[in-house]
Amino acid sequence: MIAPTTLKNTLKEYFGYDTFRPLQEEIIHSIFSGKDNLVIMPTGGGKSICFQLPAILLDGLTIVISPLIALMKDQVDGLTTNGIAAAYLNSSQTESEQQEIYSKIDAGEIKLLYTAPESLSYLENTFNSKTISLIAIDEAHCISSWGHDFRPAYTNLGYLKKRFPTIPMIALTATADKATREDIANQLNIPHAKQHIASFDRKNLKLEVRPANDRVKQIISFIDDRPNESGIIYCLSRKATETVAEKLQGANINAIAYHAGIAHEKRSKIQEDFINDKCQVICATIAFGMGIDKSNVRWVIHYNLPKNIEGYYQEIGRAGRDGLPSNTLLFHSYGDVIQLKKFAQSSGNVEVQLAKLDRMKEYADALSCRRKILLSYFGELISEDCGNCDVCNNPPQFFDGTIIAQKALSAVARLNGQEPIGTVIDVLRGAQNNAILDKNYQTLKTYGIAKDISWLDWKQYITQLINLGYLEIAFHENNKLKLTEFAKDVLFNSKKVDLANLVEATEVLEAQIPKKPKAKKNSLFERLRQLRYKIAQDEDVPAYQIFNDATLREMEAERPMSDEEFIRISGVGRVKMMNYGHDFIKEIISFSKEKKRKRKVDTTKKTYELYQQGLSIEEIAQERKLAQTTIFSHISKLYAEGKDIDMHQFIDKHDLEAIRKAKVALENPDGLKPYFEHFQEAISYATIRVGLTILKKEES
Ligand code: ADP
Ligand code: MG
Repeated sequence: MIAPTTLKNTLKEYFGYDTFRPLQEEIIHSIFSGKDNLVIMPTGGGKSICFQLPAILLDGLTIVISPLIALMKDQVDGLTTNGIAAAYLNSSQTESEQQEIYSKIDAGEIKLLYTAPESLSYLENTFNSKTISLIAIDEAHCISSWGHDFRPAYTNLGYLKKRFPTIPMIALTATADKATREDIANQLNIPHAKQHIASFDRKNLKLEVRPANDRVKQIISFIDDRPNESGIIYCLSRKATETVAEKLQGANINAIAYHAGIAHEKRSKIQEDFINDKCQVICATIAFGMGIDKSNVRWVIHYNLPKNIEGYYQEIGRAGRDGLPSNTLLFHSYGDVIQLKKFAQSSGNVEVQLAKLDRMKEYADALSCRRKILLSYFGELISEDCGNCDVCNNPPQFFDGTIIAQKALSAVARLNGQEPIGTVIDVLRGAQNNAILDKNYQTLKTYGIAKDISWLDWKQYITQLINLGYLEIAFHENNKLKLTEFAKDVLFNSKKVDLANLVEATEVLEAQIPKKPKAKKNSLFERLRQLRYKIAQDEDVPAYQIFNDATLREMEAERPMSDEEFIRISGVGRVKMMNYGHDFIKEIISFSKEKKRKRKVDTTKKTYELYQQGLSIEEIAQERKLAQTTIFSHISKLYAEGKDIDMHQFIDKHDLEAIRKAKVALENPDGLKPYFEHFQEAISYATIRVGLTILKKEES
């Protein structure tokens, strides 16, 4: 048993945090009791600390298995800035670099060693000579072919438990489904591992879905509202990543495409630029993101519908790891559904893939709280609506849509279920294109019966009718729209159909996003962000590893100006305090001083305005709820600056002469007090101030 206070102190000292996130403490205790552990936590949930903190306290070396070289470097950089001795070992290093690490291990100078499963054999000697305290398998779903990132080399990891039966092991993943979970435990030879399953609710992620109309335009306006905020746009194809990136560049947005077809070196460079805040937006295929823990990704957009909810959730999970509010936006189109069905049909496991796609589509079409749907997919039930998704923020209003439904269904009936959505809408709207005229559809009874509804609105109503089960798309017959057996009730028995009111995407946008004040150029946050960027450049680490956005926000709110105040900020540990405290405090102090100076200028200006309006000193003081002496000091200042003020009206001629004499007699006295005493309190402070101001002006 380890004392809870020891854990808390270590958390603050090394990571700068005051409290554990859910399950972290429990998992750490379980490690100290020598158990094996399987941790299921969503992306951004805080898995790393579960093994990094024990590694610091336990005697010996913790081995961390991690799938990607980029991921290792990132984590080791992060640990190093926190003053934790860590290193990584992989095939990208030269022999002498590796040798150096071995010697450090021998000297006991390293607490955590990251390595890829392929490189395990290098370690055999180390294993012999060193105490291993803990073995951590990060991204453990890579071991399972059930998971979505299977890596053959991971299957060798079963060896570790056989080789070190008594060393506690911890496997971590964000993949929730049960089959994968059991597969992981079995393959790692830890079938009895204690399972820790965290809530998948990431409350700080706002969920939003919009129809895929004018996507690029919508994206540009979305980004314009968020200058300086990092984001990822996921696209289905390599081609799309490139066209979207180009269009954004055309709108002066710092965006770039990323996909597996780009040369390895260039890809690393793009990733690095993104991590280092040099590139704001990445348009990527799903290949992007697993390797990076960038904590200040503020938004994720899905340009296309993802193929399943697991993938979608993992991708949006890359936003807001620091816990600050972050946006997610999914564009939904039937074109994508059709495309994805094709992919699914040509994959193994067709039925499973199609079922997963269906769930994804249901989510995108939802007319009730989206988070409830997401979490129920992961087996988690919440009783309250979330209040942080587009549906909750803008609940649909229903109306009697029976006539609209009847029109659509009868058009489909007249077309004998032989045409896709687009043609059905053209018929309803009486379009005169070749597709219609060639087939003589203009003679149908339903031709042009609903011109008053726009093309895009029709598309959405038909989508609703599909979701209500009156229509279906025959994906295997060129996506023809067909009636279902329930359609009869509407067509012949006047069954009432409730449809949801359509809201323009732009209206939704206006209503939902409480117009955030645009990031202010001169805010303290912006100043601290600049400072962070500069330090990150100097030290050659990602900016968010100096301090994350949440920490900067807290500094902005609290304005710590001393070491004691600074260390209280969440995210400030001992080593960061030592290394960066001085610079940040200095910036905060100088910002506050400037603000004060500016406030002074502003308040003097206000007094002058009232003076110009003809108010007396007394009246100004009353109006501004300030003391008269304060107003006098403003007036004196304005007068000294050369403003048109009749200073003499505030002072008796004799008093002024008395002050003039006193000034000579007192020989450059400091402040007002010596005068006040010299006159034995017969002339007030305010009058003395006025007199001195006049004399000074005369001298200059
Ligand atoms: P995961 O590996 O589960 O995706 P990470 O371990 O990378 O998540 O953690 C995500 C973010 O949460 C990191 O920026 C980390 O510093 C932060 N974090 C972790 N634990 C805490 C905590 N107890 N308090 C505040 N922030 C935390
Ligand atoms: Mg992680």
